[in-house]
Amino acid sequence: MCEHAFVRWSDLEVGEDERRQLPGYRDESRVRRFKAPEAVDIRFMEVRAKSALNRVPTASRVPFKWTVNPYRGCTHACVYCFARPTHEYLGMGAGRDFEREVVVKVNAPEVLRSELSRPSWRGEHVALGTNTDPYQWVESRYKLTRGIWEALLEARNPCSILTKSPLVLRDADLLRRIGEVADVSACLSVPTLDEKAWRATEPHTPHPRARLEAVAELNRQGVPTGILISPLMPGINDGPEQVERIVELAIEAGAVAIGGNTLFLRGAVRDIFFDWLRSQRPDLVPRYEQLYRRGAYAPQAVRDQIQSSVRVPSGRLKPYPEAIERSGARTPGLQRGGEGRPGEAGVARETRRSLAAVIEDQSRQQALF
Ligand code: SF4
Repeated sequence: MCEHAFVRWSDLEVGEDERRQLPGYRDESRVRRFKAPEAVDIRFMEVRAKSALNRVPTASRVPFKWTVNPYRGCTHACVYCFARPTHEYLGMGAGRDFEREVVVKVNAPEVLRSELSRPSWRGEHVALGTNTDPYQWVESRYKLTRGIWEALLEARNPCSILTKSPLVLRDADLLRRIGEVADVSACLSVPTLDEKAWRATEPHTPHPRARLEAVAELNRQGVPTGILISPLMPGINDGPEQVERIVELAIEAGAVAIGGNTLFLRGAVRDIFFDWLRSQRPDLVPRYEQLYRRGAYAPQAVRDQIQSSVRVPSGRLKPYPEAIERSGARTPGLQRGGEGRPGEAGVARETRRSLAAVIEDQSRQQALF
């Protein structure tokens, strides 16, 4: 393969020039390491992808058909991450490998640009952050997500982003410009403000308060942005007073939408989560064994009760931009801001299923990469 096919760095990398063959990729990947505290013991495997746009399986209930994910694996390392099992399709593990062996699609922006320019492309909504976080630490080096926004801007294509990182602010200029020609929205995931719970469950994510500051700044810059309080984990971050505080701060940050969902544990994530529980919160093990004894979900009544704390007083969310409301191309399923209507006391007027359901769907899919 041509050496220029890969990213070149000056003094940023360390380690041997390794190669690795990954399932599903024709050429060998180049393995890279970086001199940075955030990248200790992490291997980044650069690949050239054949496609960037991934079609969501038709059986899915998600309200968008296309996704783009420049990275596979995620160094944020959230213990509950529903995307972990996708690493198994690469012949790697859903545990440590998912956090430490990250595939980087170095040509994602150029491939996307080409795909968006095809006559057959119909300009449908493209969702980012549907599986792994496009703003995990290494994005500060590769800038692939920025390149993806540039391609979407050139194509005037509607799009959205879900992330846990304020690094998204780096690209606020592009999001704002996309918003001038197409529908765009952002969503920051903020499951907890509790320092202990945050460090224990999402060890390498940016501080949740920095995420709320990003919500405020994006809204201030005209990028409609909401939050997602998910997953809500019984006994860990689901206390009504904890959730209400996040809702309150999100409203102060000008959030246009707020959603939440209860933890679900599917595939390999179940064992990973229970191992974590045994080591970090053994007191909760019997409760979780009871709650999840029938499978991936807690009983509906429990979920309803937990999620009832994600309530937004009517009229308190920032109104969604009128043009986007009209178009229907919104971040799907979140409680929406607006003036509210009589008879909708206590909750926002969006009645579509929650973003929680969207995420649940994605966990079943294998073709989002
Ligand atoms: S940030 Fe998202 S994709 Fe990354 S580990 Fe956490 S839940 Fe998974």
